[in-house]
Amino acid sequence: MAWRVAVSLETLLHQIDNRFPGRSTAFDGSIGDAAHQARGSESDHNPWFGPGIVTARDFTHDPAHGVDIQQIADELLDSRDPRIKYVIANRRIATDRAWQWGPYDGANPHDKHVHLSVVADQLCDDPGEWALPLLNGGGGGGGGGAEDGTVEFVTWGQGVNIRQAPSLGAPVVTVLQGPTRVRVGCQTVGDTVTTAGHTNDAWSFVPALGGYISNIFIDHPAAWLPDVGQC
Ligand SMILES: [Zn+2]
Repeated sequence: MAWRVAVSLETLLHQIDNRFPGRSTAFDGSIGDAAHQARGSESDHNPWFGPGIVTARDFTHDPAHGVDIQQIADELLDSRDPRIKYVIANRRIATDRAWQWGPYDGANPHDKHVHLSVVADQLCDDPGEWALPLLNGGGGGGGGGAEDGTVEFVTWGQGVNIRQAPSLGAPVVTVLQGPTRVRVGCQTVGDTVTTAGHTNDAWSFVPALGGYISNIFIDHPAAWLPDVGQC
């Protein structure tokens, strides 16, 4: 059966990969393959929702490269992100809406990876970035520039395509269903886009989404965004 991973989990993967480029991925995973089944039953790794959508991902513990699964797990709980179904790390599980740790006695202690399941509804495909301090330079967030050089904006419009390249013919990597908070890394000149009476040939790269969005869909009056460098 054809399958894919929920978009929200791909966003988190991009964010973690961008923040910690040298990290180990030894215990990363999404689909319920043999390796995952060997770690114990984790049904959300199977593409049961949709069906065809995997609603769980594992991220490897690699503190030497900055990835501390307990910190990620705690920050996920602190975020109160409504996309979270449950989190498992270091023999503890936190289910949705309780936001508290309880004992986890599954076969795998989850001390080498953190497991995140997202909800089995359309929210799982919400591509918005995850608001974890660890992934945003440890700063307080709240807009403006960050240590990684990205600048926060909000998009407008529905069904906005994020593409692999700043071109209307480039493959779509994800679709923004509605206004979404994004962090722009750089901008460049690409295909001209005209909509709602505006024309613009500037595109912004959003590292967390792994693709480009036409600046016409960035909610800012300037065609070329301020404080954002050229790619
Ligand atoms: Zn898992």
